[in-house]
Amino acid sequence: MDEIKKIAEDKKIMVIEDAAHAAGAEYKNKKIGSFSDASCFSFYATKNLAMAEGGIITTNNEELSKKISILRMHGMDRSAWDRYSKTGFKQYQIVEAGFKANMTDIQAAIGLPQLKKLDFHNSQRQKIAEKFEKELDMDCIMLQKRKKDRKQVWHFFPILLDPKKLKVERSRIIDAIQAENIGVTVNYTALHLEPFYRKKFGFKRGDFPNAEFVSDNEISLPVYPKMTEENVEGICRAVRKVIEYYKR
Ligand SMILES: *Cc1c(COP(=O)(O)O)cnc(C)c1O
Repeated sequence: MDEIKKIAEDKKIMVIEDAAHAAGAEYKNKKIGSFSDASCFSFYATKNLAMAEGGIITTNNEELSKKISILRMHGMDRSAWDRYSKTGFKQYQIVEAGFKANMTDIQAAIGLPQLKKLDFHNSQRQKIAEKFEKELDMDCIMLQKRKKDRKQVWHFFPILLDPKKLKVERSRIIDAIQAENIGVTVNYTALHLEPFYRKKFGFKRGDFPNAEFVSDNEISLPVYPKMTEENVEGICRAVRKVIEYYKR
C-alpha cells in the first residue's frame, strides 16, 4: 500500500481499495479501511463478514462520504429514514443521478451478530492458515510470505504453483484436486485480461507479467472458521498427492 500510495500522490490520483474480503485485516498495524481515500468491503454471503448481500465503503474524506450517501439512495439529499422521522415533514430533493444501493436494515440485523464474531472467526482462520503453511511447505508450491506488521484474514488459502517444476498446466491440477473432492477456485484472473478491460483499454497479455504469473498459477484452497485440523490435513493430503503425481 505504501508503494501504491506514493505513485498515487505523485500522479494525484485517488486510491480506492477493493477490500471486499479484508474485514479485520491490517497493514502496518493499521486496519484496512482506515488509510486510503476509500475502501470497499463486501458483505456478500461468501465473505468473512457475511450479511447475505450489501457492503460498506469507508473513507475519511467528508466530501466523498456525503456524495456516496446521496448516490446510494436515488441521488436524494436526505435519507428515506430522515423523511419519516418525528422532526416533521421535509421535502427531499434529487441532486444527483443516483443508484438504489443501500444496505437494508434486515441485512444489518443479520450482520450485527456476525460483526461480534468477526475477530474470533479471523483468529480461527489464522490458525487454519498456519496449519496449511506447515503442511504445504514443499517443492512446486510457493506460499505467501507473511510479514509481522500485517494481518491477513484468510478468506481462502492461496497457493502458487511453480510451472517450471510441473508436467501439466494448472487446469489439470485443479481437475485432479477436485476429483479428490476438494472444492478449489482461482482468485483472480488478472483484470487487464478480462474482455471488458481488453476492449476498453486495449490491454493484452504481456502488459503486466507479474499479475499474469499469479493469475495463471494461483489456486485457492478453502478456509472457513469451523474447519477442523483433520479437514486441513485431508485437503493437504489431496494437494500433495496431485502435486507429487505431476511434478517433473
Ligand atoms: C466479492 C468480491 C467483490 C464483489 O463484492 P459485492 O459485494 O458482490 O459487490 C469484489 N471484489 C472482490 C475481491 C471480491 O471478493
